[in-house]
Amino acid sequence: MAKEKHVHQYKKIKKSEIFRCIKPGCRHYLRKEFAIGAISICPRCGGTFQLNNRNMKLEMPHCADCTQRRNQSELEQIKEFMEKIS
Ligand SMILES: [Zn+2]
Ligand SMILES: [Zn+2]
Repeated sequence: MAKEKHVHQYKKIKKSEIFRCIKPGCRHYLRKEFAIGAISICPRCGGTFQLNNRNMKLEMPHCADCTQRRNQSELEQIKEFMEKIS
């Protein structure tokens, strides 16, 4: 595997306190207490943000901007999906 530097995109492993990077080929992971303050990639907007106690409660942490918009955009996505399959 080529050594390619990237910003890790963290996802919580279910029923654990471990956050791992979901980028292909990356086996990086951190325990919760060490992941606080780590820079991660937001899965929604692709921007970078710092992990904190609040966004680490999510299985797939995302940035503060996207957290605020979350409920609305998820409703929109569900609506779009329902329109597609109906
Ligand atoms: Zn990584
Ligand atoms: Zn975001």
